[in-house]
Amino acid sequence: MVEIKTPEQIAKMRAAGLVVAEALKACREAVAPGVTTGELNDIADQVIAKHGATSNFRADHGGLWFPGVICASVNEEVVHGIPGDKVLKAGDLISIDCGAILDGWHGDAAITVAVGATADENLMLSKVTEGSMWAGIAQMKKGNRLVDVSRAIEGYIRRQPLPPKGKWGITEGYGGHGIGTAMHMEPHVLNYVAGRGKGPKLVPGTVLAIEPMVSLGTPHTTILEDDWTVVTTDGTWASHWEHSVAVTEQGPLVLTAFDGGRAELAKLGVTAAPDPLG
Ligand code: MG
Ligand code: MG
Repeated sequence: MVEIKTPEQIAKMRAAGLVVAEALKACREAVAPGVTTGELNDIADQVIAKHGATSNFRADHGGLWFPGVICASVNEEVVHGIPGDKVLKAGDLISIDCGAILDGWHGDAAITVAVGATADENLMLSKVTEGSMWAGIAQMKKGNRLVDVSRAIEGYIRRQPLPPKGKWGITEGYGGHGIGTAMHMEPHVLNYVAGRGKGPKLVPGTVLAIEPMVSLGTPHTTILEDDWTVVTTDGTWASHWEHSVAVTEQGPLVLTAFDGGRAELAKLGVTAAPDPLG
């Protein structure tokens, strides 16, 4: 059931991933007090259009239309925040999720950015979430099973010292996914180990979006009246990081990172695959 890509198809996914990387970089650079989430959306929209790509977010999702090319989730919002009139203020923590389709192939990635100076626990929250994503990505190696990715993400979070206020809540009910000719494909990628199933074997050509979501409190969420915005049930703030990653014969290739994941994976003793686009 898992779509396996040829090296040529992975090269096309790399091109789509680079559009997403550029859109998120532009958004990150624009985050500041006084900026609205709608303005960030417009910035990403322009990058996507500039490359002749289209948005896989601004689309119908199972009968529910999403109006943005990014999800902008601020503070207690975990994922799927709708960009609009909300004005960012100093101390906020925003997660920006963006995707694009280029030549029929999908990319999907997310970052968390502090708006101006924010509390230490928020910075720790973002660092722990990002670190858990890289721990999961480092397991995207031929011969591993899907559960190795989930276990690495959860294990990383559980090993971190607790923040000065709160604890680490790994969001339940949401996770990563296969990606390729569609944005959301088999398999679902849990950010923790549940049950005894090991999941499919990771073979070259497997491409997954790895996307941990962590809060400073509860793992539980609810959806707001807008039918989209996912918030923590206890109001604690959350972080979301994501990359689209290919398993290749030569190691993991992070399609949505400018350097293919080389620098971060090297810190973990893992060699990233060479960039098929050079
Ligand atoms: Mg995403
Ligand atoms: Mg995703």
